[in-house]
Amino acid sequence: MERQNGVATVIGTSNGKVGLAGLEREPTIKVSNLTKNYELGDNVVHALRGVSLSVSPGEFVAVMGASGSGKSTFMNVVGCLDRPTSGTYILDGIDVSSLAPDELALVRNRKVGFIFQGFNLLSRMTALGNVMLPMVYAGVSPATMEERARLALESVGLTGREDHKPNQLSGGQQQRVAIARALVNGPSIILADEPTGNLDSRTSVEVMAILQRLNAEGITIVVVTHEPDIATYCGRVVRFRDGRVIDDDRNVRPVEAVAALAQDPKDLEGVAQ
Ligand code: ADP
Ligand code: MG
Repeated sequence: MERQNGVATVIGTSNGKVGLAGLEREPTIKVSNLTKNYELGDNVVHALRGVSLSVSPGEFVAVMGASGSGKSTFMNVVGCLDRPTSGTYILDGIDVSSLAPDELALVRNRKVGFIFQGFNLLSRMTALGNVMLPMVYAGVSPATMEERARLALESVGLTGREDHKPNQLSGGQQQRVAIARALVNGPSIILADEPTGNLDSRTSVEVMAILQRLNAEGITIVVVTHEPDIATYCGRVVRFRDGRVIDDDRNVRPVEAVAALAQDPKDLEGVAQ
């Protein structure tokens, strides 16, 4: 079936009839009544208290909320890093709430790219090595791994930095390496937990410009942020409080990060393409 971003397309079918594809498409993320409890001795922390949310293919969602409201717990469940205590989760049509840990790891590797506040790169590996890592688990041949890693680094404007280690790169460059790593297995979703939390404001907008470009290319993105400015680049803002969703608003006209950067022109390499 024809897959296009949020747009119903009229296509010819094998029996000669014309069908409407797209209207019936399933959400990329569909969680229903998700709860997550952490047991700490005699205490139970209710980190998620019944979260229901659908994210359609091609959306760019900001998740906001006070510290401790359950944002990271939600992202970890959505990213198949953790399992919910109860509730269901359908990712790209797969019911992942019932998968065994090894199956969950496989889905995570194929479908999810993660970006973290602290970049989470391996310090002894080069940029290229870090980007190749997710493909090791996916069983890709070494030559293909290297080719794809180089292309992913090129797509975030890091050609020429392949052999740099993380401590030889700026924060913004390290986050670009992490974005390349998140991209390299062709995920359906990118999940970013406070990706700009360690970056200055211009570098933050550069990262948002890259994410907007990837989103325009069809990747569904969910980004946690506590910065209202960062949320203005997203098409939807979901707010958490005490483990629940309390607001879910569309932003019909997200700010274009590239346009924001152009007001203060500097090097746009790897940001706009
Ligand atoms: P946020 O990302 O919005 O700051 P978190 O999802 O990290 O919130 O945390 C939600 C609640 O769950 C908090 O009360 C936090 O202390 C608790 N929590 C998170 N992770 C764990 C854990 N591994 N063990 C116990 N409690 C946790
Ligand atoms: Mg958090």
